[in-house]
Amino acid sequence: MTERLYYHDSFLCQFDAEVLETAAVDLRTGLILDRSAFYPTSGGQVFDTGWILSGNSKLRVTEVTEKADGSVLHILEGTLRIEKGSQVHGQIDVDRRRDHMQQHSGQHVLSAAFVHLFNMPTVSFHMGTESCSIDLDTKNLTTAQVEAAEELANDVAMQNRSVGIRFVTQEEAQELGLRKMPPVERDKLRLIDIHDFDLTACGGTHVAATGQIGCILLRKTEKVRQGWRVEFVCGKRAIAMARHDYATLTESAGLCSNNIWDLPQQIRKFQEEARVSRKVNEQTLQELAEMYATRMLAGTPEQSGSFIITRVFVDRDLNFIKLLAQRLTRQNPKAVVLLASTVGQPALVFAQSTGQPFDMGALMKEALGRLGGRGGGSKDMAQGGPAQTEGLETVLAELAAKLRSGSHSATR
Ligand SMILES: [Zn+2]
Repeated sequence: MTERLYYHDSFLCQFDAEVLETAAVDLRTGLILDRSAFYPTSGGQVFDTGWILSGNSKLRVTEVTEKADGSVLHILEGTLRIEKGSQVHGQIDVDRRRDHMQQHSGQHVLSAAFVHLFNMPTVSFHMGTESCSIDLDTKNLTTAQVEAAEELANDVAMQNRSVGIRFVTQEEAQELGLRKMPPVERDKLRLIDIHDFDLTACGGTHVAATGQIGCILLRKTEKVRQGWRVEFVCGKRAIAMARHDYATLTESAGLCSNNIWDLPQQIRKFQEEARVSRKVNEQTLQELAEMYATRMLAGTPEQSGSFIITRVFVDRDLNFIKLLAQRLTRQNPKAVVLLASTVGQPALVFAQSTGQPFDMGALMKEALGRLGGRGGGSKDMAQGGPAQTEGLETVLAELAAKLRSGSHSATR
């Protein structure tokens, strides 16, 4: 067993200890000490990092875990030759610890706020590297409720209530009426007591008074299987997050208007303009395709009962050549069209009017056999994406010549 120094003092960041055991963990050194201020990942809170000093060496502690027997395993970066029984000095990364204390203590206040206001218990807590979340056992959660909980939590932070640590027996804990009892039976329970606001069993590192949490900022809420998830950040993280949000909004506002608060209105306006513009563009393209079709058919002679048209477009996309193929085959009952576009991803569209004797799917296979790429289709309509555009004109011209000569036919 490792004596947990943080149980009694979350602000203790330096300590001396004796090495009880060493172990190799994936080419790294693992240390078990008789006492430690390092917090191992547990109860939703992630581990501390820091340093272990031994003689002239100072090695980074990159991970801390809890073993089944209650000992704390410190995993060091690199290898350290160290004897069992030797003395080491531990240093906690203070900034990371402070951040964890702010997030975790903020979580207690927030969870208690949801219970006080709406009787919504917290069923789980997650501390991420960017933000934290709690899952509330509730069917519904409104924006007004989220705002009320945020307000109460921040009031409690500003009241700077003391946060005490107490150790009690199971029986004593039952009588105290804790917000949350631990799932495992232990003879002694560690309680975190936020004066006159919240009392709960917890092994985490906490602030000494709620003012040290700083602010508590609620962000996203989402429906999850067991209730509602509330994402939040506290203390310096909340400031960093708010700054990031503000920078993002300012940059966005700079692109379109002068005030960040006008952004939603501005974006709605852009969306409406884009919708209208898409509609106009669609209409224009259809009219253009209609005109192209008329002109192309007028310039094409009928040969062996078909009007065979080929064309490679370097300035019109797949969408347009599909429209055009549609118009051509609709305008003339004897049209056979082999179209290509080299705009963006090169594309092929082959189509014939219903009743024409060729097989567009087979023709597409033949074209792609020469150009590479994938595609296919039916007898009257086929689409493909050639792997190359080199030789495209030639392939289309040769296929058209084959059709005219009657050597390529499905049913004739
Ligand atoms: Zn806690």
